[in-house]
Amino acid sequence: MLEFDQAQAQLLDAAGPVAATESLSLRLLAGRVLAEDIVATLDLPPADNSAMDGYAVRHADLAAGTPLPIQQRVYAGEAPQPALPGHATRLFTGSLIPPGADTIIMQEDTREADGHVEVTAAIRPGQHVRKRGEDTTAGKQIVAAGTVLGAGHIALLASQGIAQVRVFRRLRVGVLTTGDELVNPGLPRAEAQIYNSNAPMLATLLEGVGAEVAHVLHARDEEADTREALQTLLRECDLVLSVGGVSVGERDLVKPALEALGATLALWKVRMKPGKPVALAHVDGKPVVSLPGNPVSAFAVFTVLVSPLIRRMQGRTEVRPPVSRLKLRTPAPRRDDRAEFVRVQRHDGEAGGELQLYPHQGSGVMSSLPWCTGLARLPADETVNDGDVVRYYDLRHWLA
Ligand code: AMP
Ligand code: MG
Repeated sequence: MLEFDQAQAQLLDAAGPVAATESLSLRLLAGRVLAEDIVATLDLPPADNSAMDGYAVRHADLAAGTPLPIQQRVYAGEAPQPALPGHATRLFTGSLIPPGADTIIMQEDTREADGHVEVTAAIRPGQHVRKRGEDTTAGKQIVAAGTVLGAGHIALLASQGIAQVRVFRRLRVGVLTTGDELVNPGLPRAEAQIYNSNAPMLATLLEGVGAEVAHVLHARDEEADTREALQTLLRECDLVLSVGGVSVGERDLVKPALEALGATLALWKVRMKPGKPVALAHVDGKPVVSLPGNPVSAFAVFTVLVSPLIRRMQGRTEVRPPVSRLKLRTPAPRRDDRAEFVRVQRHDGEAGGELQLYPHQGSGVMSSLPWCTGLARLPADETVNDGDVVRYYDLRHWLA
């Protein structure tokens, strides 16, 4: 059996980033992965400007303590005249500071009368001036290739006057569900059938990590049907996820179908629970990952094993999200010979919070999925007691 960390590392090596990139405008960048380093070409701010509504002065002119005549008014977006000695300039937040002035007095610390301004508080030299380049200087890298772009990055790109950047093409993923017992929601169900949960679940998980769900197919438990579906998906996608039919049962036909397509296939028994059978194959250089059929197992394996591979293929630099360490609350000690990924809910408290265990941890118990905020990893062959600190995989990070 393969240890979990080893399985995760081997899956990460299954493929590199998609080569194709495209140039997109700012409003289309949210959630996309930057494919080029972005270097500032402007100092930001581009010129000294005021952080307050008020008056610009030379600090030395305040020594006399007399009201200063107002030389000019400068609104944001206007170019000021140089500051005259012994004068003040009325200005506003974002207004450029007249050459020669060095200090801003906020209007709350002044009285204005007869075209003069009187200062009513102690003033620090240089106060309330936003200096040119204090945010960014030309030549500095502002966003690195491999970054998932959000509102903050987009604001920063815009501040440099950049309207378009290169991002990786969205990763196309195909999903294949298998099983004669499955029927699509919305259709009548025969006595011996169950509804297909994995198809919509995996499509949703994939979209959540920013992939494009190119195609979702279902195959009956027949080698030919499975093979044809895999072929269709492989034609259209960068990565194929199959789910179910990958154990050693008679009707587990994913492995023979992949072999018929010429794949060399590694079937791993990963020492994790849920989710022991996981397979990796390459067909024409494209990876196919086969997940266990139980929706709870598929969910866990997708989260902790498959999502890092997806992030790598998307071109991201951060492929393994952070894992935190938190106290587990469990009514009874737990021990297993496999690393157990249990569904937990994080509750925030004084000491960073603790994890509450879902009472029914069976891999068939789907009601644990909408309840949990993450998965706690309990080490193999160790007894975990109430209050022990365990690794926590937060879904907000691991499914993003
Ligand atoms: P398998 O690996 O195909 O033997 O599937 C393991 C278990 O998961 C069986 O109980 C299947 O009925 C169930 N299962 C497989 N695929 C799905 C699916 N798409 N939706 C819901 N249950 C499934
Ligand atoms: Mg099956």
